[in-house]
Amino acid sequence: MSEKGCVILVGAGPGDPGLLTRKGLEALSQAEVVVYDHLVSREILELIPAEARRIDVGKTAGRHPIPQPEINRILLEEAQAGHRVVRLKGGDCFLFGRGGEELELLVQNGIPFQVVPGVTSALAVPAYGGIPVTHRDFCSSVHIITGHKRADGALSLDYEALVRLHGTLVFLMSVSSMGEICRGLIAAGMDENTPAAVIERGTTPAQRKVLAPLSGIEKEAAAAAVSPPAILVVGPVCSLSEELDWFDRLPLKGLRVLLTRDEGAQKRLVPVLEQLGAQVFSAPMIRTVFRDFDPEVLKEPGPVIFTSAAGVEAFQRVLWSQGLDARSLAGKTFAAVGKGTAAALEAMGIRADFIPRVYNGLEMARQMVEEGFLRPGDSPLLLRGNLASRELPKVLEEGGIPCREVVVYDTLPLTPEELPPEFDAAVFTCASCVRSLEKALPEGALTGKTALCIGPRTAEAAREAGMNIQMAEEASADSLITLVKGMTL
Ligand code: SAH
Repeated sequence: MSEKGCVILVGAGPGDPGLLTRKGLEALSQAEVVVYDHLVSREILELIPAEARRIDVGKTAGRHPIPQPEINRILLEEAQAGHRVVRLKGGDCFLFGRGGEELELLVQNGIPFQVVPGVTSALAVPAYGGIPVTHRDFCSSVHIITGHKRADGALSLDYEALVRLHGTLVFLMSVSSMGEICRGLIAAGMDENTPAAVIERGTTPAQRKVLAPLSGIEKEAAAAAVSPPAILVVGPVCSLSEELDWFDRLPLKGLRVLLTRDEGAQKRLVPVLEQLGAQVFSAPMIRTVFRDFDPEVLKEPGPVIFTSAAGVEAFQRVLWSQGLDARSLAGKTFAAVGKGTAAALEAMGIRADFIPRVYNGLEMARQMVEEGFLRPGDSPLLLRGNLASRELPKVLEEGGIPCREVVVYDTLPLTPEELPPEFDAAVFTCASCVRSLEKALPEGALTGKTALCIGPRTAEAAREAGMNIQMAEEASADSLITLVKGMTL
């Protein structure tokens, strides 16, 4: 829809961000206003464009959820103001989602709208629990039922009819009415040994499953302190749940891994980690603020050394802002501290002349001289961040090669809003990331957590923070992927 002032109702799926449809993602990426409720997962909310306005209409902590007529009114007013509004709902937007009600007011006011169906929890959650909702050996229908009680506390279900169907029964919103439902089914003639399952927070790393016969499922679910969102599945197909279980058996199931946001190399880790069952958060670990510097420093002869990808980015920004580009660097030679930094240079069309085999200042200095990248009398330009280690320039200076150092960016502490959610393991590609995160979190917060590290300095910083170290063999994304694949819980 290209028009101004419209509403797109989007089903966000049951939780796993991979279950958002392509069409839903497309709508989200073009949204100017996003109205969402509490069942939409955090990972999906992170896909909302930074410039879009977010309206949370589902918050329950501390206040009542916004009443339905008010949600309808918000949608109408935002669209009338000319915005592209996305109304994000958990699961499918029309299945117990009041999607229909929200569209009525729009129709009355001539507001254009579209509907992007979503993957419903009623089908996807059993699938992630190893339960095929139909199976030729067991049943030929599946029924989706609400367990939500009316305001007067009544649950008006026709149990005889449900029992007669001999199909799989999926109850949504059924945590508080579970006992009543099970007793109702048994009283209407269903075998009390019929297999049943309760699945909480299905399709997410926090998924939990309880299996029991119909007569015992309420007690088992209560013993496990199951709370919403959860579904109750009743029917012989539940007997397949253990044999067909796959999600809970993924090797990294439940592991919450923190990655550094905006770190190109780490993006490739996301699908690998997710396929292994981990929950991946990407949050900033450091705040990088680029400095201006005088590009005149490039006029002086001498090789250029970068010790981080951020340094390369700072450098490129200054070049471009001065109307210069890679052509103004003709004849220069470049060293990059590792593959990530070299890749940042490559993105500018520059091939690094030197990348050390081992990544620490001492070794890098030694190899640069040994391999002829630096010669006595050179005056290399070292473009670095304010927190970069002083080891490299110190060693070079002692060897008679003084550097011209320019700080091209500053690494600042994270603001409270930037702090990551709870995590079990973090991937670090620089020592300053570790230190910055350590500083931003409460004291000792990193102790005992796992650090997946690139490079010995990073590992050292993580060890100092009390973390358990797993170290990639090489400083590359491929090597990190190999490390992650070999991880077990
Ligand atoms: N439109 C949604 C359902 C909204 S009603 C859909 O299609 O999925 C809310 C109920 O959905 C919850 O009470 C719970 O029963 C179920 N539900 C939603 N997400 C769930 C999840 N990840 N795991 C288990 N149940 C879920």
